[in-house]
Amino acid sequence: DFSTRVTYKGNDEIGSLANAINNLSQTLETYQTNRNEFFANITHELKTPLTYIKGYTNALKKKLYQSEEEKETYLDIIEKETNQMNNLMDDLMDLSKIEEGKLNLHKEDIDITEVIDMVINKIMIKAKNKGITVSYEAPPEGVVLYADGQRMEQILTNLLENATRYTEKGNILVRVFKHSKQIKITVEDTGIGISEKDVPYLFERFYRVDKSRSRSHGGTGLGLSIVKKLVDIHDGAIEIQSKLGEGTTFILSFPMDQHK
Ligand code: ADP
Repeated sequence: DFSTRVTYKGNDEIGSLANAINNLSQTLETYQTNRNEFFANITHELKTPLTYIKGYTNALKKKLYQSEEEKETYLDIIEKETNQMNNLMDDLMDLSKIEEGKLNLHKEDIDITEVIDMVINKIMIKAKNKGITVSYEAPPEGVVLYADGQRMEQILTNLLENATRYTEKGNILVRVFKHSKQIKITVEDTGIGISEKDVPYLFERFYRVDKSRSRSHGGTGLGLSIVKKLVDIHDGAIEIQSKLGEGTTFILSFPMDQHK
């Protein structure tokens, strides 16, 4: 409990010390509340798949299915929920490593247009199956960025998977270009969009506009918070433009020539 306040009126040194202590206790309080909320969230996110896994394992053991087909469905659910837990563990590991400053970046000169090419290929089948076309505009000579290639792939996979997830039919457009000493990457979709009131919270851990929709696609609600942190440690910036019912654009900016 950090709620004890030091009351001292006056502008002398003791006054400003009292102020500093009050500010610190406020910070600790917020930290504690966030921590508790975070753990409550994790517990809930782990409990949900576990409940399914337990329930359907039990049903299989007791042979509660009426047909081979139904049995397969049970097994599929168990598999899907196991994957969900796996996704969550991976995301949590990443988050904790980044937050502790223990994520080692392997920065080198990479051609970011090649990374994007690879990521687009990865999501292509899913997009095609949903009737989504994916277009890509990039300078043919490539764009060199000093960055960790694997982490860049992770950032772009997240954004492109989201674009595919939250679009029914329609288009995804990815662009890379240089603009006033910056390298810009935009991922634009014609999907469901995000309302103005939700946009400010999207980079918060576990924030989802539609929980069940996110879960049904294997989403953990941690993707964008990881993306934001990965962009930050590359000295980059991320911005969202969105209109409900029309689509969403994520804009990444990285400084050019940032060899250190
Ligand atoms: P999730 O695992 O739920 O996708 P994210 O952190 O990646 O978690 O995204 C948080 C939320 O932001 C999503 O649940 C979704 O509501 C919203 N969102 C992210 N990308 C898009 C997009 N391209 N279009 C519409 N909504 C999006």
